[in-house]
Amino acid sequence: MKRTVALVGSIMMVAALAPAAEPVDVASYDIQVRLTPETHRLRGTEVIRWTNTASVATDELWWHLYLNAFASNRTTFMRELGGARRKLRGGKVENPHWGWTRIAKLTLDDGTDLLAGLAFERPDDGNPDDFTVARVKLPRAIPPGGAIILHVGFEAQLPRVIARTGWAGDFYLMGQWFPKLGVFEDAGVRGRKTAGWNCHQFHASSEFYADFASWDVTVEVPEGWVVGATGVQTADEKGAEGTSRLRRVSFHADHVHDFAWTTAPGTLMTVVEAEFDPGRDVPKRWLDQATKLLERSAAELELPPVHLRLLIPTSQAGLAERMLRSARFGMAWYGLWYGLYPYPQLTIVSPPVTATEAGGMEYPTFITTGASRWMLWPPSSWMPLIEMVTIHEFGHQYFYGLIATNEFEQAWMDEGFNSFAEASCSTAVMRDHLAPDLKAYDPWLGDRMSSLGRRLPVKVDRFAWAYRSRGDYSYASYPRTAVLLKTLQGLAGPGPFARAMRTYAERWRFRHPGPKDFFATFSEATGKDWSWFFRQAFESDTTVDFGVMHVAQHREKAYQGFRWEDGRWKESEPAGKGDAGAATAGEKDGGPAPAAAPAATPTVAPEEKKNGGAEEPWEVTVQLGRPGSFRGPVEVELVWDGGKTERRTWDAQDRWTIWRMESPERLDRVIVDPDGIWAAESHRADNYWSRKDDTGAVTRRIWWLKELFQATGLMTLPWS
Ligand SMILES: [Zn+2]
Repeated sequence: MKRTVALVGSIMMVAALAPAAEPVDVASYDIQVRLTPETHRLRGTEVIRWTNTASVATDELWWHLYLNAFASNRTTFMRELGGARRKLRGGKVENPHWGWTRIAKLTLDDGTDLLAGLAFERPDDGNPDDFTVARVKLPRAIPPGGAIILHVGFEAQLPRVIARTGWAGDFYLMGQWFPKLGVFEDAGVRGRKTAGWNCHQFHASSEFYADFASWDVTVEVPEGWVVGATGVQTADEKGAEGTSRLRRVSFHADHVHDFAWTTAPGTLMTVVEAEFDPGRDVPKRWLDQATKLLERSAAELELPPVHLRLLIPTSQAGLAERMLRSARFGMAWYGLWYGLYPYPQLTIVSPPVTATEAGGMEYPTFITTGASRWMLWPPSSWMPLIEMVTIHEFGHQYFYGLIATNEFEQAWMDEGFNSFAEASCSTAVMRDHLAPDLKAYDPWLGDRMSSLGRRLPVKVDRFAWAYRSRGDYSYASYPRTAVLLKTLQGLAGPGPFARAMRTYAERWRFRHPGPKDFFATFSEATGKDWSWFFRQAFESDTTVDFGVMHVAQHREKAYQGFRWEDGRWKESEPAGKGDAGAATAGEKDGGPAPAAAPAATPTVAPEEKKNGGAEEPWEVTVQLGRPGSFRGPVEVELVWDGGKTERRTWDAQDRWTIWRMESPERLDRVIVDPDGIWAAESHRADNYWSRKDDTGAVTRRIWWLKELFQATGLMTLPWS
């Protein structure tokens, strides 16, 4: 025991001393771009400086040309979207509103042309009609530590808004709008065996992956238009070209792996400037809870102020305060638990209702939230839906932004981790009455309900496009991972869990962790091997379900018939004569006892059985089962008639077990997982057994109704 404690102590020490990763900007992008609203086109130039941070040389560069996903009906993205109804969250792309990116010029710093050597690649599916990934051969290899400067000219046709990018009327959201380098990963990064480029095609069910970089971006829009973008604004000039008057706005950002921006006429969108003021906006109770569970002082958890810029349709201005309040909740919560937000500004965009497809999306220091028209009507209007979307998208500043997992390959590591943190934050908001205008709401119910009615179990850890269906992708990546992490929190305990997640968030900040990195960090930080959990939770298609299969109890009958005693056969007295302990039919519960199985140790010593003696004890048989494939352990609570309550642990390695007990009292209730530790359990109605059918049982039978009601609200949300 002591040795274990010492070992755990030393591991914790190592974890605590390991410094948080320093940001390394692998590339710098200097981009000048002009938007022509009449044609929905962008024309721009890039000067990219890229450093080879791997330990081997490379003689090629891989590029993402994401907008080519919307170039035809045969691209991988459009094929995966499927069928005639090519819709993603309500949007659709139809001729003539295609979108594309074309590289017009590509040279080295010395003028060497690279464009002639550009070839399209389809590493994921070989689809010859997909043009979202390109490879360029270099005249000479870039050695480890070597750098290269590239000059790029490009033109982009924006689609009508789809998959968070494009135009709707005069509103523009520019995401994935420029030629962008893939990631040259070293051996060992996310568990890969050899160094190489990671550059996936754009899929219908995938987001992105890129290296950290520094950015200087200047955008030109018509005069009178507002602009919001990643980073902070560094310049704002007026200019003219020919007859058109322009506004030229510059932005700078460091240590982020993408750059997005938005623009619209000032008559359509309003800009609201605000602050996150930690002295005012960090709830005292949250700080107290964090200092206690993380075992850190309030000074160590101090958060910096952050500037907030909200771009919102003038017609929605009444919702601005709710969105800003939500962003502040997110900043306080994620900052306390996962480390401070290291950037000076957060830009929030609420797209107009005509551009729902642009809502609910994350880019570094730039998020889109959104108010759907359904939110004006019950039941959605009673729920903190704007709050949840805003908190969720802000949360991606951590799970995606700072902890830069590969969204193509492990969508669950950003969406699922973030869904967990977001639901935890929303729960705290409701618990602490920080949004008194909203009705009670439990964000976890929707996540848990998502497992109902699934036809096949789902393995979580898959590439985003490798699930059976897009429904499976969403389920595995969002709620399934969230409830599995909540289960892990219950099993590990809130303190160890919080500290392990903090260690993970700090150690992998500004880096690219894979699943094994999370698993190893978590086990190390808790000083316990959790591989049994991770293997079942994320690497296999398990379902979680424990239950009470059967309970039987009856009084031991008095001895009847013959027995060998004192060297001769004796016959007991017939029942009814002085046999106070005989069972009567009315006292018998349940059916006949099932076949013999490994018995638990009786908790109550059997009383001496004598004819005509004291009342015979109850023989109690509890049969527990595991319909789900996920193995335990799981806690079981036994409540006896007199009110005595005891807890036991069933390891739940086998499919079932039978506990036989003798007791002077009858069992009143059996509850499997009484604390609700197994949040990932899909079917809880069988976790309870009660001798008297109580009213609670009725509620439990219709629990799904309540969840269905809440999920109706969730379906109206744009999520990413
Ligand atoms: Zn998300």
